Amino acid sequence: MTARVLIVDDIPANLKLLDAKLTAEYFDVIQAPDGPTAIEMAQSEQPDIVLLDVMMPGMDGYEVCERLKQLPETHHIPIVMVTALDQQSDRVKGLESGADDFLTKPINDIALFARVKSLVRLKTLTDELRMRESTGQRIGGIDSTNNELPSDIGGRCLVVDDRERQRARLCEMLSEQHEVTVAESSADLMERAATDEFDLVLISLSLKEEDGLRLCSQMRSLDATRQTPILAMVEEGDMDKLVRALDMGVNDYLMRPVERNELMARCRTQLRRKRYQDQLKDNFQRSLEMAFTDSLTGLYNRRYMTNHLTTLVEEGAHSGKPLSLMLLDIDYFKAVNDTYGHGAGDEVLKEFGSRISDNVRGIDLACRLGGEEFVVVMPDTDADTAIAIAERLRSRVAERAFKTEVEQAIEVTVSIGLAGAIWPYDSAEALLERADQALYKAKRDGRNRVNTEAA
Ligand code: GH3
Ligand code: MG
Ligand code: MG
Repeated sequence: MTARVLIVDDIPANLKLLDAKLTAEYFDVIQAPDGPTAIEMAQSEQPDIVLLDVMMPGMDGYEVCERLKQLPETHHIPIVMVTALDQQSDRVKGLESGADDFLTKPINDIALFARVKSLVRLKTLTDELRMRESTGQRIGGIDSTNNELPSDIGGRCLVVDDRERQRARLCEMLSEQHEVTVAESSADLMERAATDEFDLVLISLSLKEEDGLRLCSQMRSLDATRQTPILAMVEEGDMDKLVRALDMGVNDYLMRPVERNELMARCRTQLRRKRYQDQLKDNFQRSLEMAFTDSLTGLYNRRYMTNHLTTLVEEGAHSGKPLSLMLLDIDYFKAVNDTYGHGAGDEVLKEFGSRISDNVRGIDLACRLGGEEFVVVMPDTDADTAIAIAERLRSRVAERAFKTEVEQAIEVTVSIGLAGAIWPYDSAEALLERADQALYKAKRDGRNRVNTEAA
């Protein structure tokens, strides 16, 4: 992972030290010696994260933090407060000024990289969302207000800790903001984590009965839990375990005794990242759906049909099972538009789509090819069955007039052309072409009828 880090400190020696550590890990480091310079640089250089000293003459770290969190160009950049005083009140003040995390001087390397990496991962996701938005690619209707999550979001947390007092304390703190569940054993953890939707799992690395590290590794090796954020809780000084846990993909850690504000801040970062990740996934799924469906009827569109028909034909040729295809075209649809208006025409198309879906099986592929033309591909269906289905569909359209915005219900009929695949040499194009021929004949013979290709 690489990222641009802005470090802010009034003491040159501190800057130098931090710069050396981060550069050694291949971070791209930029420096500011005071608050106003930091704000300017954050705006112009757009760092991925800011490490901000609290005690600075003139404008102190809290004020810089507050300003950065208010500016539209910088409010999304994570800020880590670096404080010499390990005081609870400083942390509260830091959180209130909008900081995302804290580090205490002298800075411990493990803590430094854990915080930086965790926040950079979060920022990668928010950047992706911001980018999609600004590209105007509002696929799935990304709402900008959605992306600004409140700072105190609650989530579903799963706790694994078999030391009762510790666990009770942890659960009490967590439950102020979150829904907390306790896993009683590793089996319980794996079962719950895999089936229930948890936003965050907190695992103690100093369990009495089991090996906490092993639990982390199990979580990371299963598909169902691979993406679930994990916070590890470590005994002070247990650096070996901590390093191994971070290597394994644990997202962040807490040192015991767990301090309330720190716990809240860490949970918040992980939960936000999870939300963003879920949001991106949803958007992706929605955009996939949109790319393959017809927005008016909700049926598959031509693009999907063409691709999928090719696959079905290949599979059919292989298995030798029958495959039938019907092509439907509404009769005199132009007259519907001309008489009742385009809006009513759209409503007819929509209702027509539902009547198709209601009368075919789940494995049949129903699509709107465009205009008032539809296709249903029916795997494992022979010619006689196909004729029966087409007849049923034809009469379901003709027997009941279509209700629309216009007062009078509209009488609609449909003509259907049928074709069956001829193995092993058939192709998607040839099949469609024969159905089209059959449809043409149905139209010529007077419409409102089903016609099968001449064998
Ligand atoms: P035929 O019985 O021979 O199929 O006659 P037809 O009028 O149904 O066929 P034609 O192809 O001449 O006209 C199709 C009409 O469908 C013309 C077009 O305006 C209309 N149409 C195509 N797409 C849409 C749409 O999305 N909404 C509406 N309301 N009308 C559409
Ligand atoms: Mg038509
Ligand atoms: Mg037509």
